Amino acid sequence: MPHPETVIALHDVSKWYGPSFQVLKNCSLTVAKGEVVVICGPSGSGKSTLVKCVNALEPIQQGRISVTGVEVSAAKTNLPKLRARVGMVFQSFELFPHMTILENLCIGQRKVLGRSTAEAIVKAEALLERVGLTAQASKYPGQLSGGQQQRVAIARALAMDPVAMLFDEPTSALDPEMINEVLDVMVALTREGMTMMVVTHEMGFARKVADRIVFMDEGEIVEVGERGTFFDNPQTNRAKAFLSKIL
Ligand code: ADP
Ligand code: MG
Repeated sequence: MPHPETVIALHDVSKWYGPSFQVLKNCSLTVAKGEVVVICGPSGSGKSTLVKCVNALEPIQQGRISVTGVEVSAAKTNLPKLRARVGMVFQSFELFPHMTILENLCIGQRKVLGRSTAEAIVKAEALLERVGLTAQASKYPGQLSGGQQQRVAIARALAMDPVAMLFDEPTSALDPEMINEVLDVMVALTREGMTMMVVTHEMGFARKVADRIVFMDEGEIVEVGERGTFFDNPQTNRAKAFLSKIL
């Protein structure tokens, strides 16, 4: 039985792409309520795949993943509801280009959660204020900067009252001057106690807010450390080699 405060649990998860390429190898990890876990590792190590599996955007072939005790891969699991409960923010924003910012924040609330339009708008406006984008409500995504679009994507995920948020390199596609405006929103979220799994190379962010750092290499979770321990005293040669390249 997972601990009652466990929000995300991966138990011995393995995944293959095609018949012979094993992308995840016996990965186990639990994320407690309010915990911030940063996932790092070389390109191609399976970080994106791992977070996609938590949201059932990719199937797994072995092991178990549960979110607040609900098994993600169980056939009866309602996937749109699951995905609403676990917000996901990608590198590439993924907003609906033909809808205004306000509509982007309302559509899921109405279609998945069954909220009324009025209710959805109240929530959307509060979130737009929180990410500093009230003035952009009636614009289209293409009219916004990358940093603004990514803040909309975060607000859209939050509109669903998620139990956890997954981020996959949310600042990698941004111009340098826009990175901090997105990281600031994420830091504020951690302060509010949001449960988060964040794939990022922003080690400043990790040092500031991560409770634990997960280091992946070649589909394996090689090392899990407290933030101080991991950066100052990595336990494995693979983590040492990775850190020496990025720090
Ligand atoms: P990371 O996010 O750490 O860079 P990914 O999870 O994106 O790693 O990819 C892990 C490995 O799986 C890489 O070798 C990548 O080429 C491969 N891969 C990713 N997505 C697919 C896919 N849909 N089909 C086949 N191989 C994939
Ligand atoms: Mg990736």
